[in-house]
Amino acid sequence: MHCGLCLPVCPTYELTGLEKNSPRGRIRLMKNIMNDSLPVTNAFMEEMYFCLDCQACQTACPAGVRYGELVEAARTLVEKKKFLRLKNFIVRNFVERRSVLRVLAVVIRFYQDSLFERGVLTFLRVFSPMLYGRAKLMPRVSNKFVFRAIPETREPEGDIRGTVAVLTGCVMDVFYADVNRDTIDVLLINSWRVMVPRGQVCCGSLGGHNGDAEYSKRLAKKNIEAFEKSGAEYYVVNSAGCCAFMKRYAEVLSDDPNYSERAQKFSKKVREFSEFVYLTGFKKTQCKVTEPVVYHEPCHLVHTQRISEEPRSIVVEIAGDNFRELNEATWCCGSAGIYNVLRFRDASEILDRKIDNIKKSGARLVITGNPGCLAQIGSGIQKENLGIEVLHPATVLNRLYKKEGAG
Ligand code: SF4
Ligand code: SF4
Repeated sequence: MHCGLCLPVCPTYELTGLEKNSPRGRIRLMKNIMNDSLPVTNAFMEEMYFCLDCQACQTACPAGVRYGELVEAARTLVEKKKFLRLKNFIVRNFVERRSVLRVLAVVIRFYQDSLFERGVLTFLRVFSPMLYGRAKLMPRVSNKFVFRAIPETREPEGDIRGTVAVLTGCVMDVFYADVNRDTIDVLLINSWRVMVPRGQVCCGSLGGHNGDAEYSKRLAKKNIEAFEKSGAEYYVVNSAGCCAFMKRYAEVLSDDPNYSERAQKFSKKVREFSEFVYLTGFKKTQCKVTEPVVYHEPCHLVHTQRISEEPRSIVVEIAGDNFRELNEATWCCGSAGIYNVLRFRDASEILDRKIDNIKKSGARLVITGNPGCLAQIGSGIQKENLGIEVLHPATVLNRLYKKEGAG
């Protein structure tokens, strides 16, 4: 196919206007590599990582080309041929080990609470605006991580509709533990028994998106074991990226004789937070958001999982007359895992476009369901001192429940 319908939706093609930086160009390149007409070179690796893996091209493609899987397979090929790259070394050794991640998080929190951070930022602002921009991308580390801080099982008041198990995640629990708490509260208020399986680990998506398939498989197996033990009917995930990957465990482990069937059962139970809350029905509140609200659609929710109507309907419901359409709501914000750190300039240009659209909407609140988007859009808003809040739908819903309860 040479239709090119994917070109106008691709953020990297928009940046350069070059065919080689478009989905169509990359697919041609991958084909040549796969049939051995071209060797795996640094230029190929560069191209595969220039792509954000936002999968907007996948939504646009009339032929149903599953671009996300192609780019991940290409990255796996790169990683096999090249020496295990530093990025994957860090992911393997810091993200996988929850204890190491926590120690690191506590050190970062200590740094963020100290005057030292202010000194470092002032220095960077003057001598290296690029590093300053990168340093500002890091959200504040949460005061209390949820994973160990709450009981493994919590019962709702009154009748119980069933049992759900919640993924607390790695990044989510370090930087957005409050979103985990809000998620659990909303589920309890909606009469679900909530479990936080103790043996759970990172979902494995960071490895999967970066060509480290072995790492992802290992984590997928650990999560299957932990969540199976919970006996829950559904597994609720409040990070769009993690959820998309957990729904793919069935594919990730399809050739593993001991896990393929279990992985299929596992993936069928996974629900993204807003998908779950919307489809099972949630308590409506009389209290509504009192300021103009827009909804930014995370790539791995709208393009990878094709979930748009569910979170949008929740936002429309809680925003009432204050809901506004965000122009290019499905256009990537530039976060894409750690893309915004590794390709700061490109990510900043993509972010500027998102912030412009937010400014034009007149919103005072942006709702979005992915930690990467929360951090990236939050940093853009902070950079321009716009004073606009960026919140997860679980947080907004929980705030309204509390307000109604108090009122
Ligand atoms: S995944 Fe996103 S960045 Fe990559 S080629 Fe497709 S549209 Fe472009
Ligand atoms: S990837 Fe899909 S939309 Fe893009 S050129 Fe190929 S067939 Fe067309």
